Amino acid sequence: VSATQIFTEIDFERTGKQVGWLYLPHSVTRSAYGNIAVPIAVIRNGSGPTVFFMAGTHGDEYEGQIALCNLIRSLDPGMVQGRIIAMPAANLPAALAGTRTSPIDDGNLNRAFPGDPTGTPTQQIAHFIDQIIFPLTNYYHDFHAGGASLDYVPFVSMRMSGDPALDERAMAALKACRPSDGLTWKYSHGQGFCVMAAMQRGIVALGGELGGGGSVNLCGVAMAERAIQGLLAHAGVVAPAIDKAPPASVPRLWEVPARSYYVLAPAAGLFQPVVELGAQVEAGMECGLVHFVDDPGRSPVSVEFRASGMVMAKRHLGRVERGDCVSHLATEWKG
Ligand code: CA
Repeated sequence: VSATQIFTEIDFERTGKQVGWLYLPHSVTRSAYGNIAVPIAVIRNGSGPTVFFMAGTHGDEYEGQIALCNLIRSLDPGMVQGRIIAMPAANLPAALAGTRTSPIDDGNLNRAFPGDPTGTPTQQIAHFIDQIIFPLTNYYHDFHAGGASLDYVPFVSMRMSGDPALDERAMAALKACRPSDGLTWKYSHGQGFCVMAAMQRGIVALGGELGGGGSVNLCGVAMAERAIQGLLAHAGVVAPAIDKAPPASVPRLWEVPARSYYVLAPAAGLFQPVVELGAQVEAGMECGLVHFVDDPGRSPVSVEFRASGMVMAKRHLGRVERGDCVSHLATEWKG
């Protein structure tokens, strides 16, 4: 069925816990018959649905990577009814380099779906996930954060599939993750997203932004671990855990309806934000200023919001090029 070149000793049907690798042939100077070994775990017991967790889709987004390593080490197969598949460093070369895209091919795994079995390493990983893992999957959660360039108010997210019944199931799964904030992406920056590819296969698929700035957000790790517990309980794969300090059970719900909720740098320079994450703003309010440190007599250029809502993300890095996203808003979820 599949022309994938990736091979593995992992048996997706075997009972018990397996922690191993997907081997992607990669022949280079230092290793003629070398392979990129992408880590994967499969934990299976009894009968029940399959929940697939993924992190390290972008290598500089760390909260999900930590939460999934903790999950893999801590789970006893006896606790499971069904199957859990976890890939904590899905684009391994990017995860090891601490970069969004792979240093091998500049590939962005969250723009690479449905992938290509004869393409670059990132395209081959996408193809394996789409062709081999997604057909096994009932529930999927892909953990993100803002990476080096953005900071986020942490949230769990979903996308609109075009199938109202599937969207309703995704929203129920999102709420089961018990985040303080939940968000629906109605606008997409580009194409080739993992979650969209999963939804096209009828999978209940979630994402989320758990922090950013290329750092590890403590609340974001906790949100990822709560989401893992919540989704596994929602799917009936693991019995519900009793939290010592349960979060608010009803998340604030947001949506990103359109491109106008994004603010782009109008010029290259040094960006000074004038609003903080979580601030409520109106269209026309100032978002920040672009300064020209090489031409100090020149007035900075002001950048305005073009929509009203809450500041969900803001740029973490100071320097900008024209067209860089310096902030994006979300507004109350309309359903
Ligand atoms: Ca991301």
